Amino acid sequence: MVDLKGQYEKIKTEIDAGIQDVINATAFINGPAVKEFQSDFEKYLGVKHVIPCANGTDALQIAMMALGLKPGDEVITADFTYVATAEVIGLLGLTPVLVDVDPNTFEIDIEALERNITSKTKAIVPVHLFGQCADMEKIMTIAKNHNLFVIEDVAQAIGAEYTFSNGTRHKAGTIGTVGCTSFFPSKNLGCYGDGGAMYTNDDELAKKLRMIASHGQSVLYMHDVLGVNSRLDTIQAAVLKVKLKHLDEYAAARNKVADFYDKAFANHPKLKIPSRSKQSTHVFHQYTLLLNGIDRSKLREQLAERGVTSMIYYPIPLHMQKAYTSERYQPGDFPVTERVCASVLSLPMHTELDEETLRYITKTVLEFCA
Ligand SMILES: *Cc1c(COP(=O)(O)O)cnc(C)c1O
Repeated sequence: MVDLKGQYEKIKTEIDAGIQDVINATAFINGPAVKEFQSDFEKYLGVKHVIPCANGTDALQIAMMALGLKPGDEVITADFTYVATAEVIGLLGLTPVLVDVDPNTFEIDIEALERNITSKTKAIVPVHLFGQCADMEKIMTIAKNHNLFVIEDVAQAIGAEYTFSNGTRHKAGTIGTVGCTSFFPSKNLGCYGDGGAMYTNDDELAKKLRMIASHGQSVLYMHDVLGVNSRLDTIQAAVLKVKLKHLDEYAAARNKVADFYDKAFANHPKLKIPSRSKQSTHVFHQYTLLLNGIDRSKLREQLAERGVTSMIYYPIPLHMQKAYTSERYQPGDFPVTERVCASVLSLPMHTELDEETLRYITKTVLEFCA
């Protein structure tokens, strides 16, 4: 699905030197590269504060801790997402309130979101799934009207840009109260291990996020609040510093792949190409088709036999996962997510796909779907 080796070969000299510098200085924890990457990333995003941490799941958890969410508080998020989003809500004793998604964009359904707001609702977690932004203008209006925090899950949409109706443009994750992202190797800005970050324009919140990520301490050995240990490794920061310079070029390469796929599959009666939001750019973390009247398992088998990888993101809606079943939900409650989970198929999507490979992939898919 990804070709991290091919991407590495092109930036090897810089990456190797960056990693070697960290080893030479034995600055493994909070070394200079962490601050340097933080500052470069703040500039790139146009945000006041980036707070690096150990992974994207931690970023979400620390954000919810810093906002003072308490057991019993309800947090609304999409039923169609990676499990991490709902996992941290549950871990903190908060109540995850799952809602259905839009059948075209796969982003959180705005009407369903509004319908599920109660007096206990404290936050909304929009997930910018597959690489484009949820409908942030509407979400921010709802949040303002109901006095709710907005925690953006930007793990799949680093670098995507959202345009408001007044023309102002903002990078994903810098619009809500706080943005949470992941540098997992296969993400659009991936390091060579685990990594994550939170972003915010709120000075006070930034202080709290930083404190909680560092054992709740403001000054060494002064622990003011309950915290966790969540740091971005210096070696990972050194990798990210190099890769950040290429991020826009990587997004352009992904868009070229998406355009190629779109052209090959558009107008096919059994294949629906991904919808593109009018308000958001797409950074194509995934290229996900909806199959109509095609045996997905058989297609995947045939693709695999011919050397084409495919994945199902995600096969089971959250409300039907064992860990998340509750009296609150029944199978059938989220018809869009249930239908989508049964018919999505993601194709290889990365920065190193050449035309010959793309021709082979699309030909192989089309032969089966004929
Ligand atoms: C990857 C991902 C996460 C979690 O990131 P980790 O760094 O793996 O903890 C959270 N939310 C979404 C939507 C993701 O895709």
